[in-house]
Amino acid sequence: MRPLTATIDLSALRHNLGVVRRHAPRSKVFAVIKANAYGHGLLRVARALEGADGFAVVELESAVRLREAGYRQKIALLEGIFDPRELPVLTEHRLVPAIHTVEQIEMLSALSAGCKLDVLLKVNTGMNRLGFQPSQFGAALERLQSGSHVSSITLMTHFANADDARGIAEPLQTLEGASAGVALPRTLANSAAIMRYPEAHADWVRPGIMLYGCSPFPNTVAVDVGLRPAMTLASEVIAVRELSAGDAVGYGSTWVAERAARVAVVACGYADGYPRHAPTGTPVLVGARLTRTVGRVSMDMLCVDVSGIEAVRVGTPVVLWGEGNPVENIAEAAGTVGYELLCALAPRVRVAEKP
Ligand SMILES: *Cc1c(COP(=O)(O)O)cnc(C)c1O
Repeated sequence: MRPLTATIDLSALRHNLGVVRRHAPRSKVFAVIKANAYGHGLLRVARALEGADGFAVVELESAVRLREAGYRQKIALLEGIFDPRELPVLTEHRLVPAIHTVEQIEMLSALSAGCKLDVLLKVNTGMNRLGFQPSQFGAALERLQSGSHVSSITLMTHFANADDARGIAEPLQTLEGASAGVALPRTLANSAAIMRYPEAHADWVRPGIMLYGCSPFPNTVAVDVGLRPAMTLASEVIAVRELSAGDAVGYGSTWVAERAARVAVVACGYADGYPRHAPTGTPVLVGARLTRTVGRVSMDMLCVDVSGIEAVRVGTPVVLWGEGNPVENIAEAAGTVGYELLCALAPRVRVAEKP
């Protein structure tokens, strides 16, 4: 068996949900488990986080799988419906769509008489992606309330800059302006807002990345903010070679040894979800030592500098990311975010669970 495994730490998931609860003790929690629970496995994560008050996904199939597995919590569909033919599935499974366009409001009229849905009404507060403009919000709300197919409405928005210095003051003000005098429950906060802005906690919070033990903030890793990484991608050294000055490593010979060097080959490449853009110098934990990649990442392998680390041999364990080697640092080196690396874990990687 190829020695590459992603181990999902269920106790870390539970710990991280506890961190959400400590930050937002008065809010209910929609655990965001879209994109196969950010690469961690939908049903596995739902099981670990069954204490959540609700789940949020983007994929209708995932919502149905959760219901079929017996989960009875609220299940939100963060992009809502795409086609009125989906509506019978929503009513059968009591799913809660986000409503963010006039087209979606019109689709609701295709519901059979007597069928009602709980919905999230989404307001655009500056992300300019999904949601009604503040000026259209009142009309949208009135159409939903005057129709016969909506049993409850929760106001929703999503912050563009909760993780950086711009924060949420402006969007929060925009929301207050649009919804003044509207006494409906609200859901506003993603992970960054949960951790930084108690004023945004409201009735329901929507943590995603923090549940998986990845910091939502730049230049910060999970342990700095009390989280535990839920995924450890680990493999082994499958070859070790001694290089002389002038020897190159990998496709394109982009890295050349300046002096004698020792290089270990690790069974993990971009076909496993490791970023091909990770440059020479990306951190890798080999045995107990943090070292760095050298040369290009290839489809099935990458190479690491183990010069002076005498104990390294075929079979030495390697942590690509996770415990002891934060995914945030690999993402930073590769010019992306931990979210993308976790979600991109490839189907061919064996997954194990740690209770
Ligand atoms: C993905 C998503 C979240 C979770 O965001 P994190 O940054 O992962 O906490 C919350 N709300 C919406 C609408 C989302 O699409």
